[in-house]
Amino acid sequence: MASFSSIQPAAAQPPSATATSTRTSHLLPHHPDQLSLPSPPPPPSHRRLRRRPHCIRAIDAAQPYDYEAYLFNRFSQSSKLKIAVVGFGNFGQFLAKAFIRQGHTVFAHSRSNYHAVAQSLGAAFFPDPHDLCEQHPDVILICTSVISTESVLRSLPLQRLRRNTLFVDVLSVKEFPKNIFLQVLPHHFDVLCTHPMFGPESGKVTWQNLPFVFDKVRIGNEESRVNRVETFLDIFKKEGCTMVEMSCAEHDRYAAGSQFITHTMGRILEKLQLESTPINTKGYETLLNLVENTASDSFDLYYGLFMYNKNAMEQLERLDLAFEALKTELFGHLHEALRKQLFGKSEEGGHRRPMLAKLPKNGTPLLPPQSEAVANKNN
Ligand code: NAP
Repeated sequence: MASFSSIQPAAAQPPSATATSTRTSHLLPHHPDQLSLPSPPPPPSHRRLRRRPHCIRAIDAAQPYDYEAYLFNRFSQSSKLKIAVVGFGNFGQFLAKAFIRQGHTVFAHSRSNYHAVAQSLGAAFFPDPHDLCEQHPDVILICTSVISTESVLRSLPLQRLRRNTLFVDVLSVKEFPKNIFLQVLPHHFDVLCTHPMFGPESGKVTWQNLPFVFDKVRIGNEESRVNRVETFLDIFKKEGCTMVEMSCAEHDRYAAGSQFITHTMGRILEKLQLESTPINTKGYETLLNLVENTASDSFDLYYGLFMYNKNAMEQLERLDLAFEALKTELFGHLHEALRKQLFGKSEEGGHRRPMLAKLPKNGTPLLPPQSEAVANKNN
């Protein structure tokens, strides 16, 4: 029969296609794809028998037993991820906006209630970590403050996650979260440590050419797991970031000499309460921008840069020594001018101008400043 054979191809399709067409035919009776078919004109001998058009009425057709597995496979092959952002504060929300813009699904979880914020961004908020993990996200993204990371990670009900879930962090220090992940997470979870080298202020307009550091700490060999990491990294590539693959230890060495110094200078300048003037130079504008960029970050973030990067203490000492050496050079010049006034030509040739003591390069042990200026002090 023409009508019956027309239905057969649909039955031979994959389960989701069958389900979709079944539902479509019911909900949209005038759709061109519907399975309701016009009946042919009745044969003369049966002219009095009215034939109804064939149509499918059931909407709850039984699905094959592997329907869920089929859907899961299709989802895992797609380029879209389900990302659970744990720690939905300043930076978590900033990242979530980009994920959503690129079509990924975002679940949010935090200590505070961000239900309304999440809703306004297009994310779903789960105050209970059990509910969050039962969504079976592909990625758990840790966006909490450095100092709360360990307790937050330990509070997640890992047993509710799929066994090969990918854990990612965006902490501003890297060796610390790497070690915590490796300690706390069972070996069947994948681990990617990252640090976007920008924040809601510096990345407000664009992420173009901003560095994104990552270290694939532990990724399973299966193709789907390798692809999942690449899909996650692609989010930042698509935004134009400069992708930098380096070890967590290397990151911390560089970051102490650059990021920690930057934040420290920003916070010192903030304490000076600099104000804009009608005659700002370009250099002064840079300082004002530095204060704006760093002071809007939480103190927890800055404290994390210091406490959880073993190289930070040395940088603080270097900063101290450099400031002392600079003052010594200044006062040395002043001292020389005064002596000239006091003793005139009688001292000519007997006194050498003090020089700025150069600090040893980063990474070499710090010695007490042995400048000529210091030696000259005793003259
Ligand atoms: P943050 O002060 O470092 O962290 C705030 C987040 O930590 C919030 O989600 C907050 O949750 C959570 N949190 C703090 N204490 C907690 C506790 N005791 N228990 C549970 N959760 C706690 O500020 P942030 O700027 O949002 O930074 C988040 C992470 O991103 C940090 O690790 C930071 O190093 C990293 N990062 C930041 C930037 C940046 O420019 N901001 C750039 C790169 C990387 P509630 O809000 O729910 O209280």
